[in-house]
Amino acid sequence: MADLIPFNRPHLTGQEPALLAEALEGRRLSGDGPFTKRCSAFFETRYGLSRALLTTSCTDALEMAAILSGIGPGDEVIAPSYTFVSTVNPFLLRGATVRFVDSRPDHPGMDESQIEALVGPRTRGILPVHYAGVACDMDLIQAVASRHGLFIVEDAAQAIEARYKGRQLGTFGELGAFSFHETKNLQCGEGGLLLVNSPALTGRAEIIREKGTNRSAFFRGEIDKYGWVDIGSSFLPADPLAALLWAQLERLEGIQARRMLLWSRYAQGLAPLAARGMARLPAVPAFAEHNGHLFYLVLEDLDSRTRLIAHLKSQGIQAVFHYQSLHRSPFFQSRHDGRPLPFADRYSDGLLRLPLFHDLQESDQDRVIQVVLGFFGG
Ligand SMILES: *Cc1c(COP(=O)(O)O)cnc(C)c1O
Repeated sequence: MADLIPFNRPHLTGQEPALLAEALEGRRLSGDGPFTKRCSAFFETRYGLSRALLTTSCTDALEMAAILSGIGPGDEVIAPSYTFVSTVNPFLLRGATVRFVDSRPDHPGMDESQIEALVGPRTRGILPVHYAGVACDMDLIQAVASRHGLFIVEDAAQAIEARYKGRQLGTFGELGAFSFHETKNLQCGEGGLLLVNSPALTGRAEIIREKGTNRSAFFRGEIDKYGWVDIGSSFLPADPLAALLWAQLERLEGIQARRMLLWSRYAQGLAPLAARGMARLPAVPAFAEHNGHLFYLVLEDLDSRTRLIAHLKSQGIQAVFHYQSLHRSPFFQSRHDGRPLPFADRYSDGLLRLPLFHDLQESDQDRVIQVVLGFFGG
């Protein structure tokens, strides 16, 4: 039998051993060492005016965002139901609650046209998630936010290098959060990035990230002793992890190009399914330049998806479903306001992700395409 084709395999560029050795020999192993500085500077150059703070995960970047947004008990945020728990957990930890928005009929991302109806007297913010690295309609979301004085925190975990009308995602909200988990386009095992796009928040962001102390300013020589000035926690990755991330940043263009190539090969190879109405392929609105983060099919129902997963598995191919609607989760079900969110449920049941990773061989990808087409009798 042919080799197993996994859903994901983290890519290593080959530079990691040398960069890790450099990090270890330098004996600066805690946070904000030389590699962390290199990575931050890289992102700050790339994202213009924003401040880029490396974190231990995207979840942690979002926790920082929740604190920075000043949200508290009684406040509400608006978020898609079809997302990862980390989009909203940080805001619940601050005592806020969440109003969930349905997915778009044509795309798993949040239905921007439904946001404004959910804005009430306690609404404080909107949490767009750029699912699959495909931008939400940021003009629409920013218009709602400015009409009602709401903040925007972008969950750009999957959206590194993806754009909306030519501008990088993660730079539209006051804050944007990225993930370098091993399943994402760029990875260092576990890691994240908080983009601080609002200059008014940068000072406090550094403090919250450093356990509530003004240690960052102290190390820059701006103050002569440091102390406890605010609430905070420990959100700094150890510098060797930043060395792993640096290996990826040195190869950024190649990594992105490879994903886009594989994504396009799927789109081309599986086009007959869409043409014959057997499954939907990813929709990418004209305003969005995606980043090839993931390739999915939307099947008719749960039963066909279960059968396709089993069929692929029998051929040594690992394909996986994705989120289950958060408004129907065991934790949130009783807290939800009862509105049906049919499209979020539709993607919970029907969406299937195919293997897509840097080192996926074209010949293996062709096999995936053949097996999928074969399942539909093509
Ligand atoms: C991966 C992911 C996260 C969490 O990222 P971590 O770095 O694992 O904390 C959050 N939101 C979305 C949409 C994700 O895809």
